[in-house]
Amino acid sequence: MNSGPSSSHSPADVRAQAARRRTFAVISHPDSGKSTLTEALALHARAIGMAGAVHGKAGRRATVSDWMTMEQERGISITSAALQFEYRDCVFNLLDTPGHADFSEDTYRVLSAVDSAVMLVDAAKGLEAQTMKLFEVCAHRGVPIITVINKWDRPGMEPLALMDEIQERTGMLPTPLTWPVGQSGDFRGVLDRLTGEYTKYTRTDGGANLAGEETFAPETAAELEGEAWTTAVDESDLLDMEDQNHEEATYLEGRSTPVLFASAVLNFGVHKILDTLVDFAPAAEARPDAAGEPRPVDAPFSGFVFKVQAGMDSNHRDRLAYVRVCSGVFERGMVVTHAATGKPFATKYAQQVFGRDREVIDEAFPGDVVGLVNASALRVGDSLYIERKVEFPSIPTFSPEHFMVIRAKDSSKYKQFRRGIQQLDHEGVIQVLRSDLRGDQAPVLGAVGPMQFEVVEDRMNNEFNAPSTLERLNFSLARRTVAEDVPTLARERSVEVLSRSDGELLALFSDRWRLQGVERAHPELTLEPLVVS
Ligand code: GDP
Repeated sequence: MNSGPSSSHSPADVRAQAARRRTFAVISHPDSGKSTLTEALALHARAIGMAGAVHGKAGRRATVSDWMTMEQERGISITSAALQFEYRDCVFNLLDTPGHADFSEDTYRVLSAVDSAVMLVDAAKGLEAQTMKLFEVCAHRGVPIITVINKWDRPGMEPLALMDEIQERTGMLPTPLTWPVGQSGDFRGVLDRLTGEYTKYTRTDGGANLAGEETFAPETAAELEGEAWTTAVDESDLLDMEDQNHEEATYLEGRSTPVLFASAVLNFGVHKILDTLVDFAPAAEARPDAAGEPRPVDAPFSGFVFKVQAGMDSNHRDRLAYVRVCSGVFERGMVVTHAATGKPFATKYAQQVFGRDREVIDEAFPGDVVGLVNASALRVGDSLYIERKVEFPSIPTFSPEHFMVIRAKDSSKYKQFRRGIQQLDHEGVIQVLRSDLRGDQAPVLGAVGPMQFEVVEDRMNNEFNAPSTLERLNFSLARRTVAEDVPTLARERSVEVLSRSDGELLALFSDRWRLQGVERAHPELTLEPLVVS
């Protein structure tokens, strides 16, 4: 096999590059320190020079992954950035996920493109709602998880209690690789449970510099830290007795999770996170196609679109499709085939996206993320390949729970209005639902979280120059139905059937009781939940 006629890389070369890749996401509840950690990781890997070089979020240091104005105003992440950095002999691709639950569909797409995840837990708060949701998505997709207990510099829970919580609520066996020396709020360092050694951390001014790290033998640690060290050793022995030690196979299967303790803001424990990813996290490996057949990493180029985005800032008003490379070498300028249409797609403007800055890239290997510019034909889930056709599994669409009708405020702007709606639909920002009854002038928008509507309104106004009004509809539930059932459903009060742009017919109901009423009256109807698979 080779990676294509245009490639100057041998198959062995491609395999070696894939084996160097660690493509992962950080999943966390908002405020757990994800942006801080992202920056600390990049700082340790020396990818961006000085942390906090980009200014954004009001009142505090901004990070490279903070983008849109809305995002900055609200202090949440909406867009997804991909950061690439090198550490030891590995190339890391860190895919950013939005923290807010309203954008869980975006998060799901990003998680379809990673090989592993880091679950960030606030030491004082334990597992929070959004962490649990994201954890479930990872579990569902078989994404292995490394757990990082963050903010250990602040008073928080007992470490053993945190381990119990992880085990009880996720079902994964926590297998700490390090154990904290000093209670939360008095973070001195960690006991390395594999070597028995002590890594002592010392503060530096501010978060922009690397923290001091020194390693000592256990005897010296006991002299240095006294009771804090003894406690750590005792607790680590307790974990030993419960067999809470790292096991690669169970981690990869999602049955256990290695645990680390850190303080992202002080840069404590950040090297250890990178080392753990290098040593234990899965590399880019053969991806199964839609039929379950794995495509080897040294097969000709292939990849899939996991995110489409436009209008990120006024200097770049173009449309960008993020592609996860699955096999072969991506070389800028290569012409790939778009599996959905069979049409060629020229990749003249491939870019690596790095926060607000973009860099043109020349080549990318399995596990890497490429941003394709002017990608108006590409949709989320689409596969691209050269030579040997492949279609990767489609990325499922969530069941919408909020519905609004959208109309152009000014009918003379209808052209812009239509273009905007189509664009937002393609990007997967919102689901667009139509019916003959409502016509094209007033389509229905379906969302998983109401904040998606705010993004739509904002972009229709500012980006597409088509100010629009949105009006809430009294539906909260969608079911998949079939064409022959439409006449029956149409006769039911407060039920509406609309067709989504992926061809699905969706019957909308005000609530569960209304749905149950219709099901009882017409047991013969097809009304299936839209499940995420
Ligand atoms: P995100 O919402 O998950 O991206 O969280 P941020 O990175 O924005 O962090 C939220 C807040 O927690 C900020 O005020 C950070 O400075 C603070 N923070 C992050 N990591 C730590 C940490 O390790 N210790 C302490 N004390 N604060 C932290």
